[in-house]
Amino acid sequence: MAEKRDYYDILGVQKNASVDDIKSAYRRLALKYHPDRNPADRKGAEEKFKELSEAYAVLSDQQKRAQYDQFGHAGIDSRYTTEDIYRGADFSSIFEDLGMGGLDLGDIFEHFGLFGGGARSGGRRRGSDLQYDLEITFEEAAFGTTKSFVVPRHEICQACKGEGAAPGSSKTRCPQCGGSGQVSSSRGFVFFSRACDKCHGEGTIIAKPCPKCRGTGRVVVERKISVKIPAGIESGMRLRVSGEGEAGLRGGQRGDLYVLVYVKPHEIFERHNDDILCEVPISMVEASLGTEVEVPTLEGKVRMSVPPGTQSGKIFRLKGKGIVNLHDRLRGDEHVRIIVETPANLNNAQRRILEDFARASGEETFPKAASFIKKIKGFFK
Ligand SMILES: [Zn+2]
Ligand SMILES: [Zn+2]
Repeated sequence: MAEKRDYYDILGVQKNASVDDIKSAYRRLALKYHPDRNPADRKGAEEKFKELSEAYAVLSDQQKRAQYDQFGHAGIDSRYTTEDIYRGADFSSIFEDLGMGGLDLGDIFEHFGLFGGGARSGGRRRGSDLQYDLEITFEEAAFGTTKSFVVPRHEICQACKGEGAAPGSSKTRCPQCGGSGQVSSSRGFVFFSRACDKCHGEGTIIAKPCPKCRGTGRVVVERKISVKIPAGIESGMRLRVSGEGEAGLRGGQRGDLYVLVYVKPHEIFERHNDDILCEVPISMVEASLGTEVEVPTLEGKVRMSVPPGTQSGKIFRLKGKGIVNLHDRLRGDEHVRIIVETPANLNNAQRRILEDFARASGEETFPKAASFIKKIKGFFK
């Protein structure tokens, strides 16, 4: 295989060229390699056009261009399929300028044979993928659930079996293209065979369109879908429901349905991977004397003892009370963080008691504070 040329060299632009520079270089060269202007080497001109288009597709896309600048062709080839390289690049405005309005990337792909048969072969077209945003509760994410919802989508029209012709009538061959769906137009680049505009590339004409679908062969139907949500799912994950997208055209495969899951935040629990965290406030007195507290878990309350002298921020672990791991099915833990509440809004009696308490307290009551005072004394002497 011949060494691939540098994209910047192909378009004849500098490394720091702006997108506009790249666009105008591509437009200029695309015209130059018009096969009509290169009758002696039509095939060569076509190859050239392909090379130019790829360079343009990469360099006009900020992310792809950065990838190319850093890693060269390997960075592009390892990361993008041919389809990905072209996806997102603006060809239509350029083709419009060149007097080839109406062409889209599909036409180009087909022309270049980039996808061997591709999306359009035989007029068969795969249905589009759909996305549904689904909100679930924290508990549903933790334990898994089955959710049902309604998705409006295109289905094959039952009245005409997707043919588009009114029941009792049939399609006729398009007189303009003789049924091929393609015409060789001499507008712009002659080497593009364009979709026939009389039959829109179908090759057939519907004399009496089906009244139910107005000849499109598909109707919008609200379909109820049930999806099993696995335990352990996290916010932002997508579930693919194969074959539940839009119906294909002319016998094409159905698209897929993607369910984008959003997990509502919980009032009490915070998720950290497979573990959950819950903060439990207790009073200063309870923390000093020790107590037993009620702790919420995903499966209800449990009692947990807090030993005397527990400090604020101390975390106790409830083993296996967390969330099931999506992959290994092992369950995480619940972490209970104790927050010691300092008494506030004291009345006189309470204040006196605490003052008495302070007088009765020594280093052994507040060992941390005592050792801190010692340390800073040493520090400032
Ligand atoms: Zn119909
Ligand atoms: Zn036609």
